[in-house]
Parts: sequence; C-alpha cells; structure tokens
Amino acid sequence: MAAKVKVSARLRPFVNNETSDDAVIVNPEEGTISISNPRPGATDRFKFSFTSCYDQSATQEEIFMRDVQPLIEHAFNGLVCTVFAYGVTSSGKTHTIQGNVSEPGIIPRVVKAILERKHLMDQGSVSIAVSYMEIYKDDVYDLLVARENAPKLPIREDMNGKIFVANLSEKSIGSFQEFDRIYSHACKSRSTGSTNLNRASSRSHALLTLTVTKLDVSANKVLIGKVNLVDLAGSENNKLTGNDPSRMAESSAINKSLTVLGQVVHALNTGASRIPYRDSKLTRILQDALGGSSIGLLICNLAPGVKFRQDTLNTLNFATRTKQIENRPVVNERDTRPAAKPHFAAAAPARAPLGPR
Ligand code: ADP
Ligand code: MG
Repeated sequence: MAAKVKVSARLRPFVNNETSDDAVIVNPEEGTISISNPRPGATDRFKFSFTSCYDQSATQEEIFMRDVQPLIEHAFNGLVCTVFAYGVTSSGKTHTIQGNVSEPGIIPRVVKAILERKHLMDQGSVSIAVSYMEIYKDDVYDLLVARENAPKLPIREDMNGKIFVANLSEKSIGSFQEFDRIYSHACKSRSTGSTNLNRASSRSHALLTLTVTKLDVSANKVLIGKVNLVDLAGSENNKLTGNDPSRMAESSAINKSLTVLGQVVHALNTGASRIPYRDSKLTRILQDALGGSSIGLLICNLAPGVKFRQDTLNTLNFATRTKQIENRPVVNERDTRPAAKPHFAAAAPARAPLGPR
C-alpha cells in the first residue's frame, strides 16, 4: 500500500520591519487558509484547506506534538518517516525544522523524544545514529565531515534495488549533548562551507536522518526505522534572466528537484501506477521514505503579507496538488536495468512529468 503524504501549512509571524496586513488569514479550527487575489483591482479571496493549519501564534511545541510526535513510535517499529519543510526563502523552513536555542524546532525535539523513548526501553536493545547531508546542484555532500574535505558522494543501488548514498558517515548518539555537539558543528560547517563555495544554504536541501535500530532477540530480528528531516531549498521562482552558467545550473537543479518532489507526492496520493522517483536525486535518495510502508509529512511554510502573496499562492497551489486525494494501492516503479553504476542517478534520462503542473 502506498502511504499518503500528509500536508500541513504554517504562516510565520511578521518579522523585523515588515508591515502587517491581512493578505493571508489562517483559520486553524476550520483548517483553512485564505489569501487575497493578487490580480490588480480584485477583491475576492482564495481559500485552501489542509489537515493542519498553523497561524502566526502557533508554537514549535504545538506543531511537534500534533504532527511530528506521532511519527516517533513508527520509527521504533521499523518504519521510515519523513518531514519536509517547503516554502520560499524566509518563509520559516529552517525555523520550523531546526529552530533556535529559545525556540527549538523539529530536529532537537525529535532527538529528545527518541532518546527518551530509548531510555524507557531495554537500553542494550536500541541504538540511535545520525547522518546529515546536503544536496546542492544535484550533488550530495556529507555535512558531518569537515567541509574542505567533503567530496561529492555517489548514489548507489544495492543488490535488492535499495538506493543509498555511498560513504555517507553515520554517528552513533547516546545522549542529547552528544547529538548537539555533532549537530552544532555540522550546522556551523554548513554555513561557512556555503560561503567558501559561494552558495547560500537557501539554495540547497539539507537532510538529517535519525536511524533507530531495535534488536528483538527473542524474535531473532532487527527493526531499522528512520526519521528523515528535510529543510528544502527555497521554492521561489528560480528562473534567472542573467547568463551566469553556474547560477543557471543551480536554479534548474532546484526547480527540477522540487517539481519532481511534488510529482512524486501527487503520484503517491492519487494512486498512480508510476512514481517518478528517478527524476531527481532528492526523490531518488528518499525513495524508500516516500511510498511503500513509509510515512510523510510536508509542512508548507508561508511568509505573510502582500509582498509574498504570489509566492504564497504558488506554495498553496503546490500543496493542494500534492494533498491526499484518494486511497489506493500502488505499484512502486522498479528499475529493470542490470546492476547500477556510481553516479547512476545523474545519468538517468529525463522523463515527461506526471500530473498537473
Ligand atoms: P527559511 O529557512 O524558509 O529561509 P527562516 O526559518 O530562516 O526561513 O525564517 C526567516 C526569518 O523569520 C528568521 O529570522 C526566523 O527567525 C523568522 N521566523 C520564521 N518563522 C518564525 C516563527 N514561527 N516565529 C518567529 N520567527 C520566525
Ligand atoms: Mg533556511
């Protein structure tokens, strides 16, 4: 059975010197978001409904408890759970996924919840590990190794057709302090690395994975569950008018991966027979996290105000296209070609997009 991807939306508060207006209004009880029509002279509003809608007063705790905390149990039962933050640059993706010391986001809360659950169980039977990668211009980098040494990592396929990132490091964590040390260091190296490489973190996807390995001695089995937490690249229109080839490659990689993500989610949620995982590295890496027995949550982050109205409308339209529609079993696409080579995904042919654009 295909697992549907749940979609929720969060409107961030006005920050800095932004002037407040009512371009976007959230009604959390009703589960709706309304936005004024950007067409000049128009007075009507568009209305969208989602399972969870968070207004400007929503707290990190509220979002975690309602949408994310229920995933922890699944990870202990050997399932793969994935949370994506989607939205334009400055819409609150990093705030939601990572947060800060006074308002910790989803990552530290998930780590704490997993560790707490582990401590309630037989200590020796559960182990937790973390990996952290960045996908930039369709290349994959390890964020847990020093930036200057970080090579591009190849995507490979094992004998069972399972996709993995070769040579990605995985660190075992026993306490929150231990995690925090590794993670803070990685976050710092991500931003300095970005500057050195002349790129902004808003133009890459960051994927943190927590792996929960549970040994069931009496049943002779090991359950391996995962929680993937993804801070996506900014979804603003990345079309560039200039002719800087490096920026053009960057933009087309961002556009493509986000479009394919939308197509994959849509295909899963409508029960399509072909899921276009292969069409981007992001979806290829997350193939086992999207569909199959896995569970997904897409959080659409929205920036308030008239200034972002067109972007907000684009995000809400993306979310609506990807929202669950009906429940049907699905056949996941399998590659029938013989053994994969390194960099296989990069060489995969482009395919016609599925679903409405
Ligand atoms: P993105 O990662 O989507 O580019 P950020 O998470 O960096 O956006 O958010 C942009 C700015 O808005 C940051 O200064 C951030 O601290 C602030 N912000 C975002 N969401 C919230 C929120 N829910 N409450 C308070 N400040 C927020
Ligand atoms: Mg960000």
